[in-house]
Amino acid sequence: MATFNFDEYQKQQAARKAASQNANQGERKPVHFMSEFLSKDGDQVVVRFPYSTLSDLSFETGHKVVGVFPGDKFGKFVRCTGDDKCPLCNSQNADQKKKITRFFAKMVVYNPVASGVELCATVWDRPAMFADSDLKSLMTEYPDLTKYLFKITRTGNGKDTKYAILPVNMQSPVYSNDVYKKDFSCLEGIDATRILSKTVEQYQQALNPTAEKVETAPVQEAESTPAKTESVADVMAQYNTPNSPFTTEGVEMVNGEPEVKVVPQVQPVETTSGGTKRYKF
Ligand SMILES: [Zn+2]
Repeated sequence: MATFNFDEYQKQQAARKAASQNANQGERKPVHFMSEFLSKDGDQVVVRFPYSTLSDLSFETGHKVVGVFPGDKFGKFVRCTGDDKCPLCNSQNADQKKKITRFFAKMVVYNPVASGVELCATVWDRPAMFADSDLKSLMTEYPDLTKYLFKITRTGNGKDTKYAILPVNMQSPVYSNDVYKKDFSCLEGIDATRILSKTVEQYQQALNPTAEKVETAPVQEAESTPAKTESVADVMAQYNTPNSPFTTEGVEMVNGEPEVKVVPQVQPVETTSGGTKRYKF
């Protein structure tokens, strides 16, 4: 191994950092978070999902880690390696050891601006049920979701927050194809999972920040703290679902009705989520 002095070492580190930043600049695209659009009671967004079939929906298994990543109050999802090398599967901490499943949704949000609408690549961290029940139910009626526009409406605040997804009337001139284009180009190269969760390597780096940084592909950082306009209760509300693994300040979140209601509704059916009633077409 070559021997080099401390100055040389520092130069190498600086060069490596610059190269990494350049790579990041090249790849970085603007990514929005759902909290920007649905920050308060009554907020609505029109979206288009890039999911054509059920096989487009993929889940992530991982572990919730609290108090390790800087600036993170509510915990971060660290992806499980899926083998016996996963340090979190081997954790002594029962909460960390527990495996949880999330769905990291992505969609195009049609954000109204003075000149019309702006197409925004948007990611949303959801309980697995969002895909397994809500999107799946939508696909029963609308098999290829990419062809349709949906409106997501937030009602309530704090732990009473719910989100409803309704198809929009695409016959209405308001939703003309010219304005609400079917165009997913803003989502190209966007990996919601990488944005909204961490790798085991990043977890280990956060545990031991003075160690040499693990070289990983550039990752766009998810927002780690709630926006100023959002109360803590609002942020907590994002995790207020029966499937949610998230707790805050040591208090288990209240189990309630799943947040998202899908319409049209025909008849109530039992779900697998502990006896709560849900609606299906
Ligand atoms: Zn694991």
